[in-house]
Amino acid sequence: MSSKAQRIVLAARPAGEPKTSDFRLEDMAVPIPGEGQVLLRTIWLSLDPYMRGRMSEGPSYAEPVPIDGVMEGGTVAEVIASNNAHFSKGDIVLSHSGWQTHALSDGRGLRKLDPKLAPISTALGVLGMPGMTAYTGLHEIGKPKAGETLVVAAASGAVGSAVGQIARIAGARAVGIAGGAEKCRYVKEELGFDECLDHRAPDLAARLKEACPKGIDVYFENVGGKVWEAVVPRLNNFARVPVCGLIADYNSFGGDAPGPNRMPALMRAILVKRLTLRGFIVRDFAALHDAFLRDMAKWLREGKVKHREFVTEGLASAPEAFMGLLKGANFGKQLVRVGPDPT
Ligand code: NDP
Repeated sequence: MSSKAQRIVLAARPAGEPKTSDFRLEDMAVPIPGEGQVLLRTIWLSLDPYMRGRMSEGPSYAEPVPIDGVMEGGTVAEVIASNNAHFSKGDIVLSHSGWQTHALSDGRGLRKLDPKLAPISTALGVLGMPGMTAYTGLHEIGKPKAGETLVVAAASGAVGSAVGQIARIAGARAVGIAGGAEKCRYVKEELGFDECLDHRAPDLAARLKEACPKGIDVYFENVGGKVWEAVVPRLNNFARVPVCGLIADYNSFGGDAPGPNRMPALMRAILVKRLTLRGFIVRDFAALHDAFLRDMAKWLREGKVKHREFVTEGLASAPEAFMGLLKGANFGKQLVRVGPDPT
């Protein structure tokens, strides 16, 4: 076993966009498992937009990462030493061991994965937290029905790609919004969305109107910002809006946006159109996990849901990959291959 290990810690809290100096790569000794503990070797690290929130102080639904603390993150890891009766050397587990090559665990929160059922990386993507976010946000809030129109942005990404495909399975029309022609082509031609609009091209509001001639019944909110502003006038009476993420604003929370106060117009739209807007965090719907795994695994087997991974190599690539994720440099579920995948 190699005695060298590495981790990436939060060096400074970013003001606005994170930068390289907000992270620090450190060497460390491979930790030695104590009684009841396992030693994990990270294979896959998931990078997710919520990590931007963990870098800042201030009220949120989770505690921030402390300065000099290891950056938080979901991982798939191999048990390489075990003093815990529930785990054996060679087990592959889903963990939350963060941006580091090795970690100790007492076994709580670890879930064994069966590499024969699906590639282990999918436990961080389509069969993991992002897939579950899409499934539960639609199941509990969006509730798309046959003949309705659903719109979702970040449509080539981990959550958005699943949202549109699940809506199509329910018989709804799915309109994606994504950054650039190549992502839009993929969303329409490979994922089977009915339409996809490039939010970087001009006149999004006009193109959205054209793409949704019967208005919008479900808007799965992943991004906020200009996309949300284009969507609001197109929402139908009784439209549902699962508020999942606001990535367009993650680098600017904390101050009031400049310009006129649009809150009264928004409240009027909510009242007059009897809209349902509901924020959610995926763990609110943990009770649906078994149903999610059953349905999503079936849809994957049947080819009804497709997915795409975007992999960078080595732990040191994580900061840049994460900064890219916030700006749309990723094309699919952002993963870091931290160590060799033995499966
Ligand atoms: P993605 O894989 O979709 O990556 C993020 C994407 O956001 C980028 O690729 C980019 O795509 C898009 N984006 C970034 N900035 C903007 C912008 N200003 N306007 C429009 N699009 C933008 O990430 P995820 O699928 O992991 O996450 C999607 C959303 O879901 C995020 O907001 C995230 O925080 C949220 N989320 C919420 C959860 C919850 O429990 N509520 C759980 C998991 C995720 P493009 O190039 O197409 O613009």
